[in-house]
Amino acid sequence: MKRNSHLAHLSPNYLFLEIQKKKKAFLEAHPEAKLISLSIGDTSEPLLPSIANALSNYSKALSTEQGYSGYGSEEGTKQLRTKIAETLYQNTMHNTITPDEIFISDGAKCDIGRWQLLFGTDITIGLIDPCYPVYSDGSAILGVKNVVRMPLNAANNFFPDLKRADLIYFCSPNNPTGSVATKEQLTQLVHFAKQNRSILLFDAAYASYIQDSNLPKSIYEIEGAKEVAIEVGSFSKMAGFSGVRLGWSVVPKELTYECGYKIKEDFKRIITTIFNGASNIAQMGAITALESYSELQKQIQLYLKNAVLLKQALLRCGYRVDGGEHAPYLWVSQKERSSVDLFNHFLEKYHIVTTPGNGFGVYGEGYVRFSSFGSKKLIEEAAQRLSVTYPSSPPFSSS
Ligand code: PLP
Repeated sequence: MKRNSHLAHLSPNYLFLEIQKKKKAFLEAHPEAKLISLSIGDTSEPLLPSIANALSNYSKALSTEQGYSGYGSEEGTKQLRTKIAETLYQNTMHNTITPDEIFISDGAKCDIGRWQLLFGTDITIGLIDPCYPVYSDGSAILGVKNVVRMPLNAANNFFPDLKRADLIYFCSPNNPTGSVATKEQLTQLVHFAKQNRSILLFDAAYASYIQDSNLPKSIYEIEGAKEVAIEVGSFSKMAGFSGVRLGWSVVPKELTYECGYKIKEDFKRIITTIFNGASNIAQMGAITALESYSELQKQIQLYLKNAVLLKQALLRCGYRVDGGEHAPYLWVSQKERSSVDLFNHFLEKYHIVTTPGNGFGVYGEGYVRFSSFGSKKLIEEAAQRLSVTYPSSPPFSSS
């Protein structure tokens, strides 16, 4: 068997594995160090008890004759699809989202992979850069060759100079930059896609972190978006489901290929062929999560307060800090320092693990990403370390 050449061309280590290696090497050299990891963007607060009960009750019922169920509909239960439409898409007045346009998944990342499969390799993709790695790596694995990069940087206020592509990936609130697009910017994006006959793959995995009602939580808050956009959503960061696994895609009826065939029909074909639907247990938990939406906001507020705390501490130290207001990520830079230099600097000087920005794309060079997930206590300790140059006379600090 020959190795798949597309895989062989990928960087050998996925971003976070690389960080784990560096972390391990540092701890071997300095076993006394107490590292604080603000690297991987994963939730830390426990599930709400009501959600855990829903998961457990449904699981228990599966052991009874009346409560057992096997395969469900590949698109997800009608009850959950209706609940998502009613709870999360009530602000999309220009574009009513109906349950039959919602497809339940086992998470946004997995769905992005299925989308990539659907559109195939013979397309040009437009990547915001830096971006969530699956946009570029998932396409590269399939063999997509034509990639147009649209840099996000401080000079353009983290909204790109839009370039023509068949499929444009966009993410707001953004991972890794922590920035959020305004209504005007998303209107520009939708108009651009219409004019250029592009399809938008809008990743709204962090929509629930938006705290300002003037900022769109969904691309469908923009008039005309149903004709050009697919939206991917996730329960991971909204309800702590990164391990439970549940997400969804919105595929509007209006979205068609140039021949007029509905993209929705092909997506259904893909999921019935290679997916088979999300866990029925997780779907029950998701219904309870949506019923507890205001409770979940308390957890989100905690992560956002963490972000403020970290931001203040980093600004006091003189770093440039973007993001962190409507997203659990801070995008940190300092003068001409490279990503690796900054990563080593925070590791060695403060024993804080970050993510080098160049792992998210070439235009992430010069930045590191701080995640604000973690307990209040942990983040307070990180902020404290930043404030007092921890440790005061480090035995092994190199910068
Ligand atoms: N999209 C973005 C921008 C993310 O940052 C993440 C996870 O970190 C995902 C999607 C993946 O979400 P899920 O856990 O639903 O696969």
